[in-house]
Amino acid sequence: MVDIKSLYKEELTEFLCDNGFPKFRGKQVFEWLNKGVKTFAEMRNIPKNLIEFLDSSCYISVANIEKKLVSRYDKTVKYLFRFNDGEFVESVVMNYKHGYSICVSTQVGCKMGCTFCSTGKSGFSRSLTASEILNQIEAAQEDLNIRISNIVLMGMGEPLDNFDNVIRFLKIVSNEEGLNIGMRHITLSTCGIVPKIYELAEYKFGLTLSVSLHAPNNEIRSRTMPVNNKYPVEEVIQACKDYFKATGRRISFEYTMIDSVNDSDENAEELANLLSKMNCHVNLIPVNNVKGTNYHKSKSERQQAFINILAKKGITATVRRTLGSDINASCGQLKRNHLEVKGG
Ligand code: SAH
Ligand code: SF4
Repeated sequence: MVDIKSLYKEELTEFLCDNGFPKFRGKQVFEWLNKGVKTFAEMRNIPKNLIEFLDSSCYISVANIEKKLVSRYDKTVKYLFRFNDGEFVESVVMNYKHGYSICVSTQVGCKMGCTFCSTGKSGFSRSLTASEILNQIEAAQEDLNIRISNIVLMGMGEPLDNFDNVIRFLKIVSNEEGLNIGMRHITLSTCGIVPKIYELAEYKFGLTLSVSLHAPNNEIRSRTMPVNNKYPVEEVIQACKDYFKATGRRISFEYTMIDSVNDSDENAEELANLLSKMNCHVNLIPVNNVKGTNYHKSKSERQQAFINILAKKGITATVRRTLGSDINASCGQLKRNHLEVKGG
């Protein structure tokens, strides 16, 4: 069965033409899919033989809302979505001054096994298709009756470990005839899969690449992020420099601050040296406590001391504001709790 919502308009048209239908039907079916229909029968101006053909050869993927939590503090909404095969992922919608932003998942689970991450702790099930990534946005827009203007690929999973589907998703979501969310409004976060950073650079997308660094050297990074054994810090940083050269887009680095693990003055000095002369921004994120780990947030004095050391060396850093702290507990936790309750 063809995952029809993952096709580009041209591919959909070609598919229908190859099966004996006129070209304009491709445009019509594409428009219906964009309107968010869940079944082919809802496509009102489509003849019966085409509906029958679609029913027998294709499926429309959906993201069903399994659970929804709304923050009492700031109206942040967290969804647990269920796909056609019963797998779950999480998405979070945040309301900023400049509009709504959604954090979407790209995989069910993750293979990378970062020790501080809830998703990394639950193992890997499968990658999402382009339509499943897209459906998280459509379903949230429909449920909240809003238009989302910004997307961050920072939910469950490693986007560059699902490269082809993520590229397909990026092209579909930014298409003028689709949701039309421009690349400038999209951020892709990666744990640093070096060859894929180079491959992404070739597309010259205007998106923001965010790299999860979390440590200033290999010794600390390998302890918390196993991926570092394959792609060490120097290679990640070189890839970031080359990415900037190729695309002209400033890199943003994520640095989770963990008490007594990576937050000393020496760590800040080392980070500043590592990033010196780079056109970049550092997002400091006080670590969210995850069940089964013994990590704690850095104290606020530590956060400030860290920023000051970076600033002295010319590197801009900000502490990320946490939204939805009452429902949050970091991506991956809602699913874990849900499955624990269900005994899964
Ligand atoms: N796999 C990608 C994107 C998803 S994770 C990546 O690692 O970049 C999104 C971000 O959340 C990453 O920067 C990740 O390191 C961070 N993160 C994971 N667990 C966290 C926790 N417990 N507290 C704070 N940030 C966390
Ligand atoms: Fe995967 Fe990102 Fe979590 Fe690491 S932090 S386990 S790469 S989702």
